[in-house]
Amino acid sequence: MPASGVQAKKLDTDRSARTLLPIELDGIEVVLEARAYQGKDEHTQAMALINRGKGPEAGEVPLVRVHSGCVTGDIFHSLRCDCRAQLDAALRRITATPNGILIYLPYHEGRGIGLFKKIKAYALQDQGRDTVDANIEIGEPIDAREYELAAEILQDLGFVRIHLMTNNPAKIEALEDAGIEIIDRVPVVIRPGAHNEHYLETKRRRMSHKL
Ligand SMILES: [Zn+2]
Repeated sequence: MPASGVQAKKLDTDRSARTLLPIELDGIEVVLEARAYQGKDEHTQAMALINRGKGPEAGEVPLVRVHSGCVTGDIFHSLRCDCRAQLDAALRRITATPNGILIYLPYHEGRGIGLFKKIKAYALQDQGRDTVDANIEIGEPIDAREYELAAEILQDLGFVRIHLMTNNPAKIEALEDAGIEIIDRVPVVIRPGAHNEHYLETKRRRMSHKL
């Protein structure tokens, strides 16, 4: 048991499945351990990509990115947010780190309000609202994400003490509340572009992100 007193808890095969996943990253094939997880309700599913340390580093505290899914950014490379750039930076860092883990949460789309409402909020942003005011105007929370499944995944993998790649203090707090010990925060440095400058400024000014 780690010093924090937190104990790893394995999930059974009803809630987790694993395979190997070869991915292409910067023109190179990288084979990662991939695990899929079923949350407590059927819409809540997640994926973990694991670059597991094989030598003495296997027991080291892992570097973890918990990434909220973003169809517009991650899949279509939208320039309105910084999701794709953060995902790319995380994948590069994690595949270069013995004991690197990326947890991907598709149900976190639009900070947890889903794709449809995210685009509704975008339409209001087109009229000049910022990302916080747009959510308020459509009657949705500014951030509806929860991290219970991410914490369960880390416990299933046996990693209850981690280094976390994030700029978001709320994510650190939520994971700690769910029983994960964050040893330190590793910043994700993304250069703003013309389309997301205002969005990043709002995250910094109104959502306390460390940007
Ligand atoms: Zn995004």
